[in-house]
Amino acid sequence: MNPQMLQLLRESRGMSSSQLASEIGVSPATMSKIEHGLAPADDERIDKIAAALSYPREVLAWGDEVHGFGSSVFYHRKQQTLPQASLRKIHAQVNLTRMRLARLIQSIDIDARYTIPAIDLTEIGGPAEAARAVRAMWALPMGPIRNMAATLERAGIVIVPVDLESPKISAVSIPPLDGAPHLIFTNDKQPADRDRFNLAHELAHLVLHGEMTSPESAEREADEFAAEFLMPAAEIRTQLKGLNLQRAAQLKVAWRVSMAAIIRRARDLGVIDDTRYRSLQVQMSQRGWRKVEPGTIDRDTPTVMRQLIRIHLEEHGYSVEELAHVAGLLSNEFAHRYDVELPRSTRRAHLRAV
Ligand SMILES: [Zn+2]
Repeated sequence: MNPQMLQLLRESRGMSSSQLASEIGVSPATMSKIEHGLAPADDERIDKIAAALSYPREVLAWGDEVHGFGSSVFYHRKQQTLPQASLRKIHAQVNLTRMRLARLIQSIDIDARYTIPAIDLTEIGGPAEAARAVRAMWALPMGPIRNMAATLERAGIVIVPVDLESPKISAVSIPPLDGAPHLIFTNDKQPADRDRFNLAHELAHLVLHGEMTSPESAEREADEFAAEFLMPAAEIRTQLKGLNLQRAAQLKVAWRVSMAAIIRRARDLGVIDDTRYRSLQVQMSQRGWRKVEPGTIDRDTPTVMRQLIRIHLEEHGYSVEELAHVAGLLSNEFAHRYDVELPRSTRRAHLRAV
């Protein structure tokens, strides 16, 4: 058993060390020693731990490296204001998904049409210049990006919508590590227009922030990149003249970004002044639109993860159970998490208790 893995799996369930201790009937002190590799865990104990955490016992022996907070590989927004326990749970989920992907992807070639460049901000001039460079490099047509998820997937990025515990965390990106591809986790509770902006924001981190940068400037740079990537100044500027709410609503549909992003863009490009900006903000608030905007946009749904699973099941002849095992999950959770139909026998097994 890998003690580091035990800790990660426990945190992924949002469980404390003492909670797990009581679940498996040992003292908190013993549990702590087990987690630090100081007390042996025999087969029976490992089985109990695996059952308490609802993971297949083999996962406890995975030897993958766990990547921590504070390293340049792990960006997310507003992490400062989130409770430590939630943060650790997300951190664990992200690490586990990365390990899972590395395994699922081993026998499959992802054909990436685009490459993800590493851009030096001082060399290129700024985040907006970087966004234009990526658009040009990928030969994206002028105008709105039709499907952000599909665009990023064409660059080999795997997008995984997950429950990120809190609306405060919009998305998380990690560069390729230990055999896993570029990964972006999106918060599955976000509206579609926000989701698109978050994807562009995370793309910025992958392109601009491979090296360590100070978090504040990184966030600002990523937002600036995202705004230019989704709403190129040269194309949208004239459309923003004399912006009012009605116009913002029309532009939202055309550019597939939130009204809030349109209004901010108008201010940032100097098309409207601060007074006008504040007035629009007040009007948005009065209508309750700063919480929920009118007009919904179809979600840009990622497909690579689904395809990965489909290929294993349909072409490589895996059963759901076998594939769940590869992914380090029990069949039920695997099926639920990745929306896979369980075979009948497995489903019926749960009805037996009635
Ligand atoms: Zn960020």
